[in-house]
Amino acid sequence: MYPSCSSRLRPLALVLVLVSVGAGCATPVLSIDDERELGDKVAAEALKEPRIIRDNLVRHYIEDLGKRILDAAGPQPFDYTFYVLDDENINAFAVPGGHVFVHTGLILAADNMSELAGVMGHEVGHVVLRHVARSYYRNQGTGILATLVGAGLDMYVGRGTSMVSDLLAMSYVTSYSRDYEREADLFAVGVLPQAGISPSGLPTFFETLAAQGGPNPPPFLSSHPATAERIENTRKAIVELDVGGGLDVDDDGKLEIIQRRIELLTGH
Ligand SMILES: [Zn+2]
Repeated sequence: MYPSCSSRLRPLALVLVLVSVGAGCATPVLSIDDERELGDKVAAEALKEPRIIRDNLVRHYIEDLGKRILDAAGPQPFDYTFYVLDDENINAFAVPGGHVFVHTGLILAADNMSELAGVMGHEVGHVVLRHVARSYYRNQGTGILATLVGAGLDMYVGRGTSMVSDLLAMSYVTSYSRDYEREADLFAVGVLPQAGISPSGLPTFFETLAAQGGPNPPPFLSSHPATAERIENTRKAIVELDVGGGLDVDDDGKLEIIQRRIELLTGH
């Protein structure tokens, strides 16, 4: 999936080697087929979620950015889907089968396209590196995914809460280990240059989030610990990767147009 002939790819290749070594341990992993099946169920429910932004401009912008990252990542076993969720909290998360949710709050908080792509690359990394699949069994007892598989979707009909809201609330979304976070960061740093995008937005976005920390840090921070270490690690990885110049930080004002569009649509 990842050519190893280019020195540019070393950090990404290293991540993949570490993960494949880790795959030999006792941690049970959701199979690709099971993950895909679970993802289909999640997608069916997600489409019922009223807070999913259906505006074509916003949707296509995030889908195109996601596709750009995925094209650089190489062939994947899932048909990834990117959703924009009307939620002011600065967050993004991935669920089984390559379904990635990006909050409007995250899009609005990004200073440039590279920052947004950094977080999206991180979330794609959690899927590609099978963190989602690995975390499934660990979190099986905690709620929604076990329910989806074990009892079907019927129990959600008529409930006052949506499945996406439950996903947000459950520990599944927030329970990746520090190692997984480090790997997903390195994945993003490795893959973005292959997409022609500067990875510099990842550490700068962490810094922006850290500055907003206080007693109520943004969800992406509270669910992703050791921020100072991650800023240092991603900066170091970018230097080691020697990505060179010419990579996109902005996208000719497109992000700003989408941000104004979201403000118009949501009133945020
Ligand atoms: Zn993460």
